Amino acid sequence: MADVAQGFDYVVVGGGTAGCALAARLSEDSRRTVCLLEAGGSGRSVFIKVPGAIVMAQRSASLNWRFQSVPQAELNGRRIPVPRGRGLGGSALINGMVYFRGNPRDYDAWAAAGAAGWSYREILPYFRRSEHNENFGSSVYHGRGGPMNVRSVTRPNPLNFSFFDALAGLGYSYRDDLNGADSEGMGLRQLSIRRGTRETTASALLRPALGRPNLVVLTGTQATRIVLEGRRAVAVEARSADGGLLLKAHREIVLTAGAIQSPQLLMLSGIGDGEHLGALGIPVRHDLPGVGRNLHDHLASPVHMRTRDPASYGVSLRAMPRNLWNIAEYLVSRRGPLANNVFESAAFVKSVPGLDKPDVQLVFQPAKRPDPSFPYPLGHGFAISPVGLYPRSRGRVTLAGPDPFAAPLIDPNLLSAPEDLPPLINGIRLARKIFASTAFAKYRAEETSPGSAAQSDAELAAYIRAEAYTVHHPVSTCRMGNDAAAVVDPQLKVVGLDNLRVADASVFPSIIGGNTNAAIVMIAEKACDLILGRPPPAPETFDASDTPKNDTDHPA
Ligand SMILES: Cc1cc2nc3c(=O)[nH]c(=O)nc-3n(C[C@H](O)[C@H](O)[C@H](O)COP(=O)(O)OP(=O)(O)OC[C@H]3O[C@@H](n4cnc5c(N)ncnc54)[C@H](O)[C@@H]3O)c2cc1C
Repeated sequence: MADVAQGFDYVVVGGGTAGCALAARLSEDSRRTVCLLEAGGSGRSVFIKVPGAIVMAQRSASLNWRFQSVPQAELNGRRIPVPRGRGLGGSALINGMVYFRGNPRDYDAWAAAGAAGWSYREILPYFRRSEHNENFGSSVYHGRGGPMNVRSVTRPNPLNFSFFDALAGLGYSYRDDLNGADSEGMGLRQLSIRRGTRETTASALLRPALGRPNLVVLTGTQATRIVLEGRRAVAVEARSADGGLLLKAHREIVLTAGAIQSPQLLMLSGIGDGEHLGALGIPVRHDLPGVGRNLHDHLASPVHMRTRDPASYGVSLRAMPRNLWNIAEYLVSRRGPLANNVFESAAFVKSVPGLDKPDVQLVFQPAKRPDPSFPYPLGHGFAISPVGLYPRSRGRVTLAGPDPFAAPLIDPNLLSAPEDLPPLINGIRLARKIFASTAFAKYRAEETSPGSAAQSDAELAAYIRAEAYTVHHPVSTCRMGNDAAAVVDPQLKVVGLDNLRVADASVFPSIIGGNTNAAIVMIAEKACDLILGRPPPAPETFDASDTPKNDTDHPA
């Protein structure tokens, strides 16, 4: 029986995407005791469950840490929102539920950069292990029978087909499976949704494990420091409403507090850049200058259109009967638009010819921009948000001071690399071509932003600086590698210390060309094997002809 006073074999810090999966997997071995610490609450709320209530979930102060970046010099000095989920489930409590693994070559680049064991062939079995794909499993690329439910968008809004038709007219191909051999082209999203409700590692992996006597989950408990004895991590200091706690770890401590708060906790514990910590009066226990560096994220610059046509999701008199029907349909059968996210399709394109993989994601949204004072779009429209997939800009997370409850300083240093601007400018131009095509003519839409006055590169760059935002995929602040600046090695062990690993978004060697959640579940699956000393699964052999066909209808 696990017990706080006795300590645990493993203490996992942060009950988000990675932490819930890891704690559940580690505790499958009943001989090992596991404690999962989560600063937030249970993560149960109707706003989380209903996929269509996503904006309400994101706006909830109890579910979102609501960090902000420091002023961004290349974005007109703006502070950029950095939402992070809070509660069991972590950022997946408030995320867009998109299940996309990025480009297979991203992982080969990880391995080539020093992350031995993390090539696509080696990590593909871990993606399959966690997945139950309703549409594509079981195949080389997909799993059936895994804990996390994945399904494609059901009954997409007709505007998605205008998006596909326009892209087909421009020479792009439709992909049944954006998570197959190749994602270049367009397709419907795959989503982390089960029977019409949001699926997270908390709902899929942790909750079914909660009855295990060897697993203790402490919510409302924030880790404030990792205790070192010499080079060995031995305990976690934490605080809850009842006071301070010391959680001893007999085997290992694993940080899964995410790309902002894992480096924060390391630095609060005296593990980080000695100069920075010394300046704040924090005793340096282990000088590791890479901690908090390499922060990067995906930047997006949307093209918004407005129309009187009521085909899009939105609140209007003409759409009222349909909206009421959709609410009733969801309440009765968990189907319809409220059982999907709004971002139903996407395209992956090369912003210039000759690249070896797409460098821009066009996120299509059959809805107008939501009003700041109302969670749903008032009126009708649609948008394409070009997202730069491989930013070169690198920033840093640092501490504002030694107070563990103070927000860290988050500086993604967006657009500091000039190469990050052209893919966004080209993406805006491509989005405009799509909206100017005959496929969209019937909607008689007008562009509301950037607006027809912005045409030249300089005008579009000015728009991007004024309006671009990140799509909430911060990574790499405890970068994995085998070089002197790496924070963790390919076994996810903090370099130079014993019994301490990091296993979340912060270990990405570099950002993948897509949404990050699925890759983080994969990291947790592999971390479990690494921690328990289990041999890895055999690397996958595959070729493009193995890409499965969708079971469901799709545009030809
Ligand atoms: C608004 C939004 C939309 C997104 N949309 C998508 C999407 O559609 N698809 C996709 O793939 N990805 C998406 N993402 C990204 C994805 O959700 C995250 O990359 C992923 O959830 C991060 O997982 P993680 O385990 O690294 O950290 P998190 O899931 O953020 O978990 C960290 C956990 O640690 C807890 N914690 C932090 N500090 C402490 C401490 N000191 N003590 C105890 N607990 C602590 C936090 O409360 C949190 O629960 C989105 C993210 C956001 C915010």
